[in-house]
Amino acid sequence: MRLPWKNLPIPLPPREHPIITALLAARDEIKVEEMAHKTRADGSRIPTGLEADAALIGFKKVHDVEHNATRWTVVCQGCGTPSAHGWPTATSPTNMARNMVRLGWIVDRKVQKCLECIEKERPVKAPVIAGPDPKIARRIYAALDEHFDEAKRLYRSGWDDLKVAASLEVSAEIVIRIRKEAYGDLAEDPIFQTLRDDLEMLRMEGAELGIRMASQIEEHHAKITALEVRIASAPALRKAVC
Ligand SMILES: [Zn+2]
Repeated sequence: MRLPWKNLPIPLPPREHPIITALLAARDEIKVEEMAHKTRADGSRIPTGLEADAALIGFKKVHDVEHNATRWTVVCQGCGTPSAHGWPTATSPTNMARNMVRLGWIVDRKVQKCLECIEKERPVKAPVIAGPDPKIARRIYAALDEHFDEAKRLYRSGWDDLKVAASLEVSAEIVIRIRKEAYGDLAEDPIFQTLRDDLEMLRMEGAELGIRMASQIEEHHAKITALEVRIASAPALRKAVC
């Protein structure tokens, strides 16, 4: 890559920056004329070397008549404002571009624009909320289809945002956002569902305990009955002693 200035960051100096002021003041004062060049048969000029490279980023080498000096000029594509510079001819297009960037311009192969035009064209930034990866979003929608009761606007028993997030290995924030977009707020605080789940669990345990205890009581009664039978059927003598 021969022209690496394309990726330069573009710091914008303040409009009242002395360089900008000087530049804006000077731009009308410089009278320039095209320099003599070698020409093709059809009269078009043949740029060479540095001029050819500089031309790629919109620069033209001109002669400053008044000061009898060489100037490099570039013209803003937006407003037509020229910017003329007395850089040494030994400079490189890279440095030319860098200099312009410092002045707030964008100068590269495609764009040559002044600070004012850049600021005018800068879009008003709407806050961009990055959405989740579409694949992840689809999986979340699928999980909500399965575990969310749309009519009640509640998760089905045993599920909530955190559990969906954990089951899909995504962040809870994304699940909450998508669930809210799709179904709105929950009909009630999820704590109630948790409490209901706990209650249901205790009821089930109670029922199980009841069954287990009933069978233990039955066993117990059986033992009692067995002993009563044994005593009843024992010899009369023993019975008298008792
Ligand atoms: Zn401009």
